[in-house]
Amino acid sequence: MPPKRTRAVVQTGARQLEMRDFPIPDIDADTALLRVEACGICGSDVEQYTGTIPVRLPLIPGHEPLGVIEQIGDRAAKRWGVNVGDRVAVETLIPCGHCRACIEGRYQVCRGRGGMFGYAYVPLSHPPGLWGAYAELMYLDPFSIVHRVRPDIPASIAVMFNPLGAGFRWAVELPDTGPGDTVLILGPGQRGLASVIAARAAGADTIIVTGLRRDAAKLELARTLGADHIINVEDEDARKRVQEITNGHGADVVVEVSSYATQPVAEALYFAATGARIILAGVKGFKAVDNFISDLIVVKEVTIKGAFGVTSRSYEAAIRLIESGRVPLQKLHTHDFKLEDAELAIRTLAGEVEGDSCIHSCLLPAL
Ligand SMILES: [Zn+2]
Ligand SMILES: [Zn+2]
Repeated sequence: MPPKRTRAVVQTGARQLEMRDFPIPDIDADTALLRVEACGICGSDVEQYTGTIPVRLPLIPGHEPLGVIEQIGDRAAKRWGVNVGDRVAVETLIPCGHCRACIEGRYQVCRGRGGMFGYAYVPLSHPPGLWGAYAELMYLDPFSIVHRVRPDIPASIAVMFNPLGAGFRWAVELPDTGPGDTVLILGPGQRGLASVIAARAAGADTIIVTGLRRDAAKLELARTLGADHIINVEDEDARKRVQEITNGHGADVVVEVSSYATQPVAEALYFAATGARIILAGVKGFKAVDNFISDLIVVKEVTIKGAFGVTSRSYEAAIRLIESGRVPLQKLHTHDFKLEDAELAIRTLAGEVEGDSCIHSCLLPAL
């Protein structure tokens, strides 16, 4: 028999988290309960915690769930193709299936259920309340999208389907990266490193990663994961280096994954080759970009695409890569945290914990 109550971390305000316990909801034919094995932590968790991303509070954070199906209704089991005991990765967004975005195949930006509807973004007031993965058990809505993941992979590695899925969508799917392409990745954080792995898996020719002086260790890791060249933009002339590496052509694909800083967006146009594809995935708090020279887009016939979220296709590519064991993903994983240490996990990723530096981390509710 499952326990009668379950624990979860609740966010009540900016920088306010508390542990609470909840009754376990009943499920019906179309829904399920997930026993959370791991919840990945990313920059969005930091922004949600500090209040930079407006969310309807109180709620249970945690939008990168990996777990085992604890209970499932008959129709859900049939529709999703999973059963009790199966390990699944759960997509953040819960699409409505009917809005214009969904019908046009852009469900990752669906707003058909009111605002951004997905795990970690629905308040406790919306029954049954267990809408986040900072918890032992999470509710699975009828419109959930789940992907099976092989059970023998350590949970803290399997849960990387999220950053890696982003890498595949941003560095491969959207810019249509393939053999012969030079890919330039601006920013060596969790998403930038995932982009290196994805671009390498897609057969990119040359991969270049830029970062700051303080990113030295991450830039070295980028090299280990498949980058051919790394550039420290504070000590080197990045424009000149990109021109040298590419024999004066520039990069075919530029992936901008830095957060807050707007300068890389303006610089991306200088790094771009004729006909390049630039993907903008780092959010900047709605700031204007200084020195943005639009003529460079015109004269080089550059295509700029925005990337928000991840698609099923890219999640599947990520899961297959994780299962293949081909990439030393454990080198990206730096921290495991207990559920009660959610706040420490977020602050560590944010760089607020003196002397500790984090790339990929997760909460493990069973710890
Ligand atoms: Zn995330
Ligand atoms: Zn929709």
